[in-house]
Order: sequence, then structure tokens, then C-alpha cells
Amino acid sequence: MSFFHDVLEGTIEMFFPEYCVSCGRRLLPSEHFLCLDCNIELATVTFDNFRDNSITRLFWGRLPIQTAFAFMHFVPHGPSQAVLHELKYKQNKEIGYHFGEQMALSMKGKGFPTDFDIVLPVPLHPKKKAIRGYNQAELLATGIAETFDKKLETRAVQRTRFNPTQTHKSMTERWENVKNLFHITHPRRIQGKHILIVDDVITTGSTIESLANELLKLNDVKISLAVLAMAQEI
Ligand SMILES: [Zn+2]
Repeated sequence: MSFFHDVLEGTIEMFFPEYCVSCGRRLLPSEHFLCLDCNIELATVTFDNFRDNSITRLFWGRLPIQTAFAFMHFVPHGPSQAVLHELKYKQNKEIGYHFGEQMALSMKGKGFPTDFDIVLPVPLHPKKKAIRGYNQAELLATGIAETFDKKLETRAVQRTRFNPTQTHKSMTERWENVKNLFHITHPRRIQGKHILIVDDVITTGSTIESLANELLKLNDVKISLAVLAMAQEI
């Protein structure tokens, strides 16, 4: 990089310093959203098998999943919680694109099978999207679609209900709550495709199950998954 580039970057840094979203420490120009220490503390997931791991097993007997990837474990009060909080509640769209890219680089580096055709973020209800201003899963999916040079599909499926919070509900209640949650508006965009579903967090898998069930009603559809964070108990 040129001298002028360094000067310019230094100047921007001086007037718009960035801080670690987890510990609040001022970031170096080479750090993004998390400082080096918090990045090391981030409990990344170490799957070496994408066809048989704790996420694919979560769906055994529920639906067929080709491959599944997760980037990090959700650890309460840790850097992963800070990242998810920024992504969902702090209007930090940039962190979504950044972690979408990080997910894709990790998937590439670990040899995640690239035979999926389209990348489909779990849709938010239009009302919820309007309130938040964006769909956080779509930000992540953008980084993945760009890195793998695949089509980002955001128009084929709609969320039909404004879903209340899932916390404090039993497994059966949760399933009742997410049943028929999605409606496919453009089946032709889905038929015959291997679809990589992208979401920010996976806990019970019931939302993804509801979406995948709708997609699998169409001809010749295959499903894979990529999530930013998985609950530790999975
Ligand atoms: Zn930090």
C-alpha cells in the first residue's frame, strides 16, 4: 500500500476510531468488529464432517439435510453474544456482511461441498423486517453468495406470520408455533435446486424445519444449512 493510502487510513482512524463490540477496546486498523483477543476467545465450531455432525443429527427423523455448517458456538456473555446483539439489535449491517464473509472463508477453507445452487436466508416477516430495517440472515447470506458466486434468493419464500418469541415454550408448543410459517411465492425459483439455507442462530431447529418442509414439498429439492451461531447444547 502507498504512503498516501497509509496516511489516509490513519486519518480516517483518527477521526472515526472503531471499538471492539465485545470488550470495547479501540481496534487496530487490521481488526474488524472484534479485537484480536476477543477473536481468539470466539468459540469457533470445528466440524470436520459436514454430512454427519451435531446439526445434521438434530434433524434426523425430521428431514433430510445434505450438509450443515456452523461458524461459532453461542456463549452467553462472550464475544459471540456481542456479535449477535450488534447484528440483531444495533442496526450494525456491516457486521452482518463481515461475518457472512468470515463464514464463507471458513467454509471454503474447510472444504464445505459447493454443490448447492442457491443461497436462501430464512425470511423475516415483512413487518419485522420493516421494524429492524433489514433481515440479518440476508446480510450473512450475501457474503456467502458472493464468495461462492451463487445466486442469492430472497423473493421465492415469504414468512406468513409475525412470530412471537419462542422462549419459555415447550418443544410441542414451539412446533405448533412455527407450523406453516412460510409460504412459497415463486416455486419455479426453488424446484430442482439444492438450497443452502442461511440463518443467524440455530437452537431447536424448528424454524428451519418449518421452512425446509415447505421447500421439500417441491420437486427435486435438496437442503443444506449454514448458520453463524449454534446453541452450545446442540
Ligand atoms: Zn475485544
